[in-house]
This record gives sequence, C-alpha cells and structure tokens, in this order.
Amino acid sequence: MVREAAVIHSPGYRCDIGTHVFPTEKFGVVRQRLVDAGDVAEDAFLEPGPASREDLLRVHAPEYLDDLEQLRWTLRTMSAELPLTGEVVHAYRLAAGGTMLAAREALARGFGVNLGGGFHHAYPDHAEGFCYLNDLAVAIRVLQHEGRVRRAAVVDCDVHQGNGTARAFRGDDSVFTFSIHQQRNYPTPKEPGDLDVGLEDGAGDAEYLERLGQALGRVWDSGPEVVIYQAGADPYREDQLGGLALTFEGLAARDRMVLEGCARRGVPVAVTLGGGYARQIDDTIRIHLATCRLVCALAREAGPRP
Ligand SMILES: [Zn+2]
Repeated sequence: MVREAAVIHSPGYRCDIGTHVFPTEKFGVVRQRLVDAGDVAEDAFLEPGPASREDLLRVHAPEYLDDLEQLRWTLRTMSAELPLTGEVVHAYRLAAGGTMLAAREALARGFGVNLGGGFHHAYPDHAEGFCYLNDLAVAIRVLQHEGRVRRAAVVDCDVHQGNGTARAFRGDDSVFTFSIHQQRNYPTPKEPGDLDVGLEDGAGDAEYLERLGQALGRVWDSGPEVVIYQAGADPYREDQLGGLALTFEGLAARDRMVLEGCARRGVPVAVTLGGGYARQIDDTIRIHLATCRLVCALAREAGPRP
C-alpha cells in the first residue's frame, strides 16, 4: 500500500477580492496541475469545512471574530488590505479548516499539504496584510487542544516576516516560531519570534540556503512533534512584493531542506502555500506546484506507515 500525502483543497479558496496583486485563482490552478501531472487523482483531494468559531477562538479574540462574522468595518478589520465580504471571510475560514485538516492528516500520514493558507500576518486580535485569520496558529492550537501534540514548530519561508504567528505564540515555550525573510520589507516593525533571520535586499540562493540550514538546526533542537511549513513563493527574484533573488532551483532546494529534514527525523509536516506575486502568475504557480509535488513524492518514498 503506497503512502499518499493528504492534499487539501476547496473551490471556496478562490474569492472575489477585486483588482488585487493577490491571485486567489492560483489555488485551483495548482490543484488542476497536480491532477494533470499525475500526482493526485481527481477524487483523492480532501475538502475541508470552515473552521468553527470554537476552533478560531483558540487563537483569535471574540470581539474580532464578532467583527468578521458581522462584517463590521472597525480598527480590527480595516487593517487588512482586503475587502470585507461574507465570501471573503468564508474563504479564510475554509483556509483555516484546510490547514487544520492538513495538520491532522500529517500526523497520520507524515505529510499533508493545504493548497491555500499560510496567512501569517493575521494577529489574534486584528487583521493585517492579506490575512484575516491565522490558519497556521489555529491548526497548532487545535492539535494541542485535542491532545494530539504538545510541541510544534512553524517554519515560515515567506519573504515577509510571520508577525501574526510570532505574536500568537509569544511567551509560549511549546511552539517554536521561525521566520526567514527579507529584513527591509513589510511588516515594519517585525514581531520577534523564537528565531528570525532577516536577509539583506537581493540575497540569492547560496546565502539563503546557508542561513536556512543553520536555522533549521535550532528548529529540530526545539523538539517539535509537528511542523507547519509556510512555503511562500515570494522569495522568488521576479516577485512584485519581494526583494530577494531566489531562483526556481533555489526555492526547490529550500523546500527539500525543510521537507526532507522533517522526513529524516520522522516529524510530520503540514504545508501551506503562503504568498506569491510574481510578475507572471505562471511563475508563482510553478513554484507552488514544485512544493506540492515534492510533498507527494516524499510521502511515497517514505512507504507505508508501520
Ligand atoms: Zn509574503
């Protein structure tokens, strides 16, 4: 029996956010390309439900969730660079449900990937950037609440620092938050996590991979029972919102470093797609697709679970 990675997708991830640099159509395109490439059978995708209010309350403040549910334009919601509609809020609840599902399945299968999510700028009590709900933090808190894991780590390789996630776990020794990002980029100021690597503008593959390799040693030392990987495509050199200079090959080596590191240590890993704003949307899709195909390949290589 071949082991397959859990691959999570919902058509509801795509939502109307108007003319925007964030291409929500990318989620469905990545799904279709995984089918076309023969990595995932059409009927093998798992579809999440929306995260419940109870799930979201493990991270988010009740008054902020009230604002989102009632579509209230307040200081807490207007800090998002997104429209506030029922469709959009539902898409973020689905993304949180998807990362929860990917994480639960990762514990059973070793690997899970949500073809969405990675909304690391959402704070417990307010929105930021293109993020209403922090699916990474919610997934970890739900697993902890269910008693499935005690210790977890977030590996955040998006070009932007994972400020909301760092805040959600501030002062909590059970969750190690690591972010490697471009220092002179949004957000400003940064929110200190357990380990932050801020790279200079224009840093390329060699420097990135060297710094990542050093940092991952500290992630493993923290003893995570699950890793949530934010595999943002925006460190790519042609990204409109990023100022690093990684190539396709560099990004693939980054993914291998994180994912093979988890596999070698037997640490289950749930992957989220995160940012990606390449001048050519097809470049963003190519990067996400490579990440997802590697997850599928590593799950098969690992063979059946004992
Ligand atoms: Zn980003």
